[in-house]
Amino acid sequence: AGAAPSNFLRHVIENDLQQNTYSGRQWGGSPGDAQHHANGMADPAKVRMRFPPEPNGYLHIGHAKSIWLNFELAKEYGGVCHLRFDDTNPEKEEQEYVDSIRDAVQWLGYETYLADRPSAPGTLQPHEYFASDYFDFMYRAAEYLIEAGLAYVDEQTPEEMRANRGDFGKPGTDSPFRARTVEQNLARFREMRDGQLADGAAILRAKIDMASPNINLRDPALYRIRRATHHNTGDKWCIYPMYTFAHPIEDALEQITHSFCTLEFEDQRPFYDWLLDNLAAGGLIASPHPRQYEFARLNVTHVLTSKRKLRQLVEEGHVDGWDDPRMPTLAGLRRRGYTPEALKLFCERSGTTKSAGGWTDYAALEAALRETLDPIAPRAMAVLDPVKLVITNWGELMGGDEVLDDCSAPVHPHHPERGERHFKIGREVWIERTDYEDVQPKGFFRLFPGNKVRLKYGHTIECTGATRDGEGKLIEVQATLVPDTKSGTPGADAIKVKGNITWVAVADAVAAEVRLYERLFAEAQPGSGELLDELNKNSLVTCSAFVEPSLANSEGGAGFQFERHGYFSIEQSVTSERQLVITRSVTLRDSSHK
Ligand code: ATP
Ligand code: MG
Ligand code: MG
Repeated sequence: AGAAPSNFLRHVIENDLQQNTYSGRQWGGSPGDAQHHANGMADPAKVRMRFPPEPNGYLHIGHAKSIWLNFELAKEYGGVCHLRFDDTNPEKEEQEYVDSIRDAVQWLGYETYLADRPSAPGTLQPHEYFASDYFDFMYRAAEYLIEAGLAYVDEQTPEEMRANRGDFGKPGTDSPFRARTVEQNLARFREMRDGQLADGAAILRAKIDMASPNINLRDPALYRIRRATHHNTGDKWCIYPMYTFAHPIEDALEQITHSFCTLEFEDQRPFYDWLLDNLAAGGLIASPHPRQYEFARLNVTHVLTSKRKLRQLVEEGHVDGWDDPRMPTLAGLRRRGYTPEALKLFCERSGTTKSAGGWTDYAALEAALRETLDPIAPRAMAVLDPVKLVITNWGELMGGDEVLDDCSAPVHPHHPERGERHFKIGREVWIERTDYEDVQPKGFFRLFPGNKVRLKYGHTIECTGATRDGEGKLIEVQATLVPDTKSGTPGADAIKVKGNITWVAVADAVAAEVRLYERLFAEAQPGSGELLDELNKNSLVTCSAFVEPSLANSEGGAGFQFERHGYFSIEQSVTSERQLVITRSVTLRDSSHK
């Protein structure tokens, strides 16, 4: 798992390596403090990627795709990847999100390919980059554009700006402020910075072409006024750079070679190049500058991949936090029992293409989990929705009703070296309610009066009857032990049975609450309509269960395969009232077609 993202992006990288595109990277005339940021970082021959999340929410499975792609490519070509927090939007960003993003990248196992930040030796997280560390440089880059006649302060109202932007096939109209002199623009921009203008009263815009067929080139905004306290820079700034201006600069200062992003940014690429070409010409950044390449975002059926809408689910209480096991966040998937290996296998299989609009089937995500857990997950027996089975002749055959017998089973059927689990069998055992029928349905070979079955790893029993309460609810099943049938003893299989059922002894069973999660969204392509209407109303069903004693001391997060049922994970918040809480990660077989 995790290897070799196929695809066009590798060709781009290989081509650049062959041409030595970045090994001769040169600074322009007066490098100034851009070089300070890059100082010591420059091993220009290296492939250098970045993963640039905005810390405005928890990462989701779509981000895992981007992390996987960038880090695996960096790894494959002997390069590094920067974890960069794109924190240019102070109102929406929080430390909690920074922490959760850090956790997610570590959990995925990519820490060793992170590049250290040379300008921050001795800090706690030397490999974390922050866009806000470049605010001073960005400000100077903006003044440079003004001085070069490439930017102006616009004081039209937002409505006027919108109207004058034009539309597809309809050119925009120049702002009356477009003709300001360099001196006027510089003075006004400094007033913006110094807090002399109200929020929203003016913006700094690039001066490109109001008639461009690409609307992103119609004098895009570079800076806006926003009095907001920033988690890193506090109240130092009341103007903040726009993402489209900040992002290329971040890439350039960090000497990124290949800047991979999703296809929504394709129309931004001309501005990315316009900006960096101009800054390189002015000697503010090195040449050649990084290049942007786009790939199709990951969409998964029944999964919502929008931080904003996921936040809505959290804030309105439709789920139990960002790490609810139904959430497609990495924190949620982890709690659900997903492993980094499963996610990487899934990312690899989902493919990396240039064409938009594809949806990967949710079943592929579950299949990747099953396939990666099957070879490693310890086995265990668990009885969901239990009913008691009484072996009525137990005392007579075993020398007393209280006598317990020892049973064992392999921890993993293909790994004898992992040893055995041990558990008891006695007069009373828990079995699945669905394993008993009064009258044999067609094709049913489990318990019904007169039928013999094997208690897996235990003895063969013959069903003799059952007891129901006044409402007809099954409360007990009775059976007799068939002598000399203990699993693993000579002649145990002399009597052939068709049914083989799982169970746990009442004597050593551990009580558990099992959470049977289903997909969060009934809608196959959620996010298109009214969000709450698209939710699956039955995404969480809980049931009581008994599990074998080998689980009693398991730690939160431990995964198991419960025979017959699927893969399960011990909840982090393990016990209360001596009861385990267990999450179903995925069923044994794909049931999405039923
Ligand atoms: P969202 O739309 O969920 O808020 P975003 O793109 O705004 O996501 P960022 O924090 O800016 O979130 O994303 C960081 C990186 O992850 C970006 O490079 C972005 O392109 C990438 N990314 C986000 N969603 C997906 C996805 N579904 N598939 C692949 N990459 C993605
Ligand atoms: Mg974004
Ligand atoms: Mg977004």
